[in-house]
Amino acid sequence: DMISRLFSNLPGFAYRCKYDENWTMQFMSDSCKMTTGYLPEELINNKLIAYGNIIHEDDRDNVSQAIADSLKSHDHFEIEYRIITKEGEIRWVWERGICIRTNSKDPIAVEGYITDIHQHKTSQFQKIESDQRYHYLVDLSPDIIFVLDSNGKIIDYKSDKSDLYYQESDLSNKNIFEILPSEVVKSTKIYLEKTLKTHSMQIFNYSLDISGKGTCYFEARMVESAPKEVTVIIRDITIQRMMELDLIKAKDQAEESNRLKSAFLANMSHEIRTPMNAIMGFSNLLLRKSDEQERSKYVKLITKSSEYLLHLINDVLLYSRLQSEEIPIKLSVIELDVFIQNLYDTFKMTGIKENINFYKWISSDCKKLSIMGDHEKIWEILTILTSNALKYTESGEVKIGCKTKNNRIHFYVEDTGIGVPDNEKNKIYDRFYRAVNVQSTNTGGSGLGLSIAKELVDLMKGDIEVWSTEGKGSCFNFSIPLIVAESESIEAPLNTEMPLKMKDMIVLIAEDDAYNYMYLYELMKDCVARIDHALNGQEAIIFESKNHYDLILMDIKMPIMNGNEAIKQIKVGNPDVPIIVQTAYAQSEEKEETMKAGADAYLVKPIDQNELKKVISSICHVDSCNND
Ligand code: ADP
Repeated sequence: DMISRLFSNLPGFAYRCKYDENWTMQFMSDSCKMTTGYLPEELINNKLIAYGNIIHEDDRDNVSQAIADSLKSHDHFEIEYRIITKEGEIRWVWERGICIRTNSKDPIAVEGYITDIHQHKTSQFQKIESDQRYHYLVDLSPDIIFVLDSNGKIIDYKSDKSDLYYQESDLSNKNIFEILPSEVVKSTKIYLEKTLKTHSMQIFNYSLDISGKGTCYFEARMVESAPKEVTVIIRDITIQRMMELDLIKAKDQAEESNRLKSAFLANMSHEIRTPMNAIMGFSNLLLRKSDEQERSKYVKLITKSSEYLLHLINDVLLYSRLQSEEIPIKLSVIELDVFIQNLYDTFKMTGIKENINFYKWISSDCKKLSIMGDHEKIWEILTILTSNALKYTESGEVKIGCKTKNNRIHFYVEDTGIGVPDNEKNKIYDRFYRAVNVQSTNTGGSGLGLSIAKELVDLMKGDIEVWSTEGKGSCFNFSIPLIVAESESIEAPLNTEMPLKMKDMIVLIAEDDAYNYMYLYELMKDCVARIDHALNGQEAIIFESKNHYDLILMDIKMPIMNGNEAIKQIKVGNPDVPIIVQTAYAQSEEKEETMKAGADAYLVKPIDQNELKKVISSICHVDSCNND
């Protein structure tokens, strides 16, 4: 019983059990109650429960395996496993033992010692877990972390390779002030001192120019993590900073665009009222005055103002269209000398200021040259540039022309007008923008022309530039890649019919609007033999089936049956009758649809008499009527 006494002083218990699957206990020292909660007599011979059954289910195989291994190796085994105590609690135990054999070497028993290690085991787990958690946290953080002493010596750090904006790869025991770029050293020193002095967190920002990355922005947070020691977490905030800067820029732009829009509206109201006043005022005077000379002066002023209004409306419509849709590029053959000549003639017709010498110049390489280009867009751009040149020039010259250079075709418009101030050369392409020097003059404008031109140039992958000296003049130049057109050998088919005289023509006008009809009637009544009037597409078809017409003028938007439908049906029965469409839709898709329906020509309202005559003579092969 000395042995029993000795054992009772130990924290664990000694045992001997059978080498069977229950580890049937044969002997257990008294202290087994402290570890397992069971009295020895409850376990011995499996009286209440077998020892094998109080081993945690998940650990039973491990225990058997360890004992089997030790049997093989003739050595002691040492294992840690869990048991379920009598009170039902899980408890970690440590066991050391050895197998006892018979003479024939078969195992008959196991003897050993088992003790409670629960507390030790769980505190060890807690530590491993909390250490790991801390490491995960640090690893997961995208930030750079330094632990520094009060002199700036690096005690510990965490940084991805990609974060290292310094040469050294191992930073421990180096001084941070030797590593940081000089521009940051000063502020870091100040904040280090401040953190240790105030014992409170300091936050500061700095930026660095990093080769290959440009300017990067950082935010540093510094805390006193131990006496005379700080931890600083540095975060790369470049992306946020960039977003912030972009936002500020966008806000400024939005404000500027808002300001321009208000200025535009104020300007527009002026731009619309001025010609409207002229039109209404002079129309009233027309009614009252009988002097022919005066009246013709008024009519000219009314015409001029109307043209101006139309131009303004076209600009606004085109601009809003450019903003809202993708506009396709349509290439066609452009004969440069004809093109420039037409542009020149168009402006010449509108009347040029007396003191301006307006002329065209086509370089020798462009004469007889045909290119592939978007006729409509190039025309629109040159129209904008030319009307600006004529508008902003009081006297001297305005020259339009083209030349080829470096495989590009250059169109230019040069003037001797007021010029563009140097610091505004880029701004004039902004929508609604008007330079300071024109604002003080009386020249009207919406500030949309050049922004339209620029968008059209961009659509064609072209360039637009201006050279200008304020007070001396400007030269606007736009260029697009040169694509020379294959020479067209197909000549226009010879007209074998006897040429018709316009005077003998019988004409049908399909037009639902009374004023528009009256206008067309006035334009044509003295030139042709007879004019019939159909009020819609269906009437036009009926008229056409009962009469012979040399020409049909067809409106598109009409009630009952629209113009396109009527054209299709008329052309089925009479493919040769020439049809000219007149429409208020100024969009090229409309034109395409109409031409597909079978129309021979297309005119946009308001219709110009000269243009109408030109078109008639070309599609009807007649001599035009010269009664102006
Ligand atoms: P608008 O002529 O209707 O004002 P634009 O967009 O066509 O608008 O032109 C923008 C500005 O560019 C004009 O207001 C003017 O200040 C300047 N500008 C354009 N063309 C010329 C030119 N040929 N000479 C001098 N200034 C010009």
